[in-house]
Amino acid sequence: MQINNENPLEISFEETENQKMVAQMIRDFGSREIKPKMMEWDDAQIFPVDLFKKMGELGLMGVLVPEAYGGSGFSYMEYVTAIAEISKIDGSIGLSMAAHNSLCTNHILQFASEEQKQKYLPKLATGEWIGAWGLTEPNTGSDAGNMRTVAEKNGDYYVINGAKNFITHGRSGNVAVVIVRTGPVGDSHSMTAFIIEKGTPGFSAGKKENKLGMRASETAELIFSDCRVHQSQVIGKVGDGFIQSLKVLDGGRISIAALSLGIAVGAYEAALKYSKERHQFNKPISSFQGIAFKLADMATKIEAARLLIFRAADMKNKGLDVNKESAMAKLYASEICVEVATEGVQIFGGYGYTKDFPAEKYYRDAKLCTIGEGTSEIQKLVISRSILK
Ligand SMILES: Cc1cc2nc3c(=O)[nH]c(=O)nc-3n(C[C@H](O)[C@H](O)[C@H](O)COP(=O)(O)OP(=O)(O)OC[C@H]3O[C@@H](n4cnc5c(N)ncnc54)[C@H](O)[C@@H]3O)c2cc1C
Repeated sequence: MQINNENPLEISFEETENQKMVAQMIRDFGSREIKPKMMEWDDAQIFPVDLFKKMGELGLMGVLVPEAYGGSGFSYMEYVTAIAEISKIDGSIGLSMAAHNSLCTNHILQFASEEQKQKYLPKLATGEWIGAWGLTEPNTGSDAGNMRTVAEKNGDYYVINGAKNFITHGRSGNVAVVIVRTGPVGDSHSMTAFIIEKGTPGFSAGKKENKLGMRASETAELIFSDCRVHQSQVIGKVGDGFIQSLKVLDGGRISIAALSLGIAVGAYEAALKYSKERHQFNKPISSFQGIAFKLADMATKIEAARLLIFRAADMKNKGLDVNKESAMAKLYASEICVEVATEGVQIFGGYGYTKDFPAEKYYRDAKLCTIGEGTSEIQKLVISRSILK
């Protein structure tokens, strides 16, 4: 999709060759590597590390990373396509791919020193290493700027104490970008981002969450107990960590919107197919207006979400500020994802409530989208602040 920013009404809807290529590659890969095992992973909450290594070989773990650092060097257009296509198959694989690419890897790509980029990006972009990103704490989620995990300077080192929770790849991540307090509470310039490798003394993983959905995406606590980290592991300037993380989230929200789009499309396509196959009263249920109108609403909401997402992606590619647009895309796409997945179950009737059909998994996975990387309420806060300033 091409958008003319001088006149946003001029939009060309053609997919680029790269988008088509990425979509086809993921469909083939997903049929072979994800579909046969996804319900087993979901059931047992298995985070399939080996799958992500294979995704690395296909360039899916460094979609936005320039080729010079071992990445695919694609734009947000291909990135949105990739996340949506994979999430159409399995939302939890989409969530993990988004967290690795948009949060950990992108924080390093955007703000780290050249030396840090050379050291970490090739490993992350090729999937050799899995990345985590820690902002949220048990008592500070939406209010992340009030975080309590502290890093105190001690010579050339920082000593970190505290905990982060709900961290994607908290256990399996080889490296984490973690934002912690280096100054007083109440000052948005008093937090700093560190790159911390697994195995650093005092750094460990805690409880793994047992979740409603997104069960193949690992979510766990990070614990810091007198964890000594050399000052060379600071990303950018001391005190800039929180401001950096807000910018990282502006991009990240596009990926959660893409994740929502993929789940919604998956739920819709499954319901559409089923509605033509299932007969009641000697007719396919799609012939009942009550079902046909549901499908019409689902399809329309999906198209509206798609437009918002590709508009934000296009602006991001052009280096424009996407604070409002990414929040709008994330808010709308995640809310309609829940609505579409809910109607999907309804169209499947009782069968939608069983694990024999995909509707229930889309329904469970969908709900995370209105929560992760800022709840819907927080997106409205971001949007309203932007339009009222
Ligand atoms: C599966 C999963 C993966 C995650 N991965 C990561 C990760 O990799 N890294 C990371 O750092 N975090 C991660 N998170 C954390 C996620 O970003 C937070 O859960 C989210 O930001 C909400 O924070 P909270 O859960 O503490 O909810 P709270 O902030 O306690 O919110 C509770 C409710 O209050 C509402 N609320 C709060 N403040 C306001 C306000 N000012 N106005 C109106 N309503 C408000 C919220 O919208 C919500 O409805 C993940 C979470 C999950 C569930």
